[in-house]
Amino acid sequence: MSKMCGSCGMPLSKDPQGGGTNADGSKNENYCSYCYADGKFTFEGTLPEFRDFCYKVMLEGGTPKFLAWLYTRGMKRLPRWKNA
Ligand SMILES: [Zn+2]
Repeated sequence: MSKMCGSCGMPLSKDPQGGGTNADGSKNENYCSYCYADGKFTFEGTLPEFRDFCYKVMLEGGTPKFLAWLYTRGMKRLPRWKNA
């Protein structure tokens, strides 16, 4: 099974960087490069805010509405949000 980002759920195989980066510049394989860079999350906020943000980004990127809705709906099960 391929790894996916623990914040947005994107498969890391689809990430051009192959994962986020830690503060020391090493690779972080728990999150994608869009969510996690230089040891911090690029988006700080609540799950509903993040979900809204991702939904809009996906629509702008040409993702069909029902797919964008489906992806963002599953986010609450991801490691970053599970205990929120
Ligand atoms: Zn991500």
